[in-house]
Amino acid sequence: GYRARSAYKLIEIIDKYDLLSGVDSVVDLGAAPGGWCQVVQQKSTDKLTIIGLDLLAIEPISGVHFIQGDFTDDTVYQTLLDTLNGQKINLVLSDMAPNLSGVSATDQPKSMYLAELALDFCRQSLEPGGSHVVKLFQGEGFDEHLKLMRACFQRVVIVKPDSSRARSREVFAIGMGFKNL
Ligand code: SAM
Repeated sequence: GYRARSAYKLIEIIDKYDLLSGVDSVVDLGAAPGGWCQVVQQKSTDKLTIIGLDLLAIEPISGVHFIQGDFTDDTVYQTLLDTLNGQKINLVLSDMAPNLSGVSATDQPKSMYLAELALDFCRQSLEPGGSHVVKLFQGEGFDEHLKLMRACFQRVVIVKPDSSRARSREVFAIGMGFKNL
């Protein structure tokens, strides 16, 4: 079993778009409790570098290097870059979501900000041809964010996994074929 139901969402996405083939390094942002890291670790056949990051601690997963900290914090971001030590990555995952207050006027900008930072990280660390999976909430800023992604990736698709609750505004944007501009 997996530590989080969200694991099934990632399995659907990875299988549909074959996101792990030829991949040797993955960064998972908002990784706790570790479901997505488990999926990546179990699906990988070769030696794969997996780095997870979250505000919250996780129970260790073999083969996963975990960094605890706030991704919006410059020093934490720098720790991630230092850990990579110049190694480019092939796949950046982000299931990050702020603690939802239920007030969309404050939740929406917070979640869009996390998505923007994840995209900045892609620009800095993704290998050309690499992929990005990011959780987004439909609403203010959503279309603009897709535009930004389309500028960076050859192909961008939106997926609403079967395992995602129908009423939730949550979707996943998948960028494939990172362009090194
Ligand atoms: N994909 C995970 C799994 O399968 O186990 C579940 C991720 S959960 C939906 C969202 C996570 O984003 C939470 O664990 C939360 O702590 C994390 N998060 C939210 N804001 C963050 C931030 N600024 N920096 C790091 N992690 C953050």
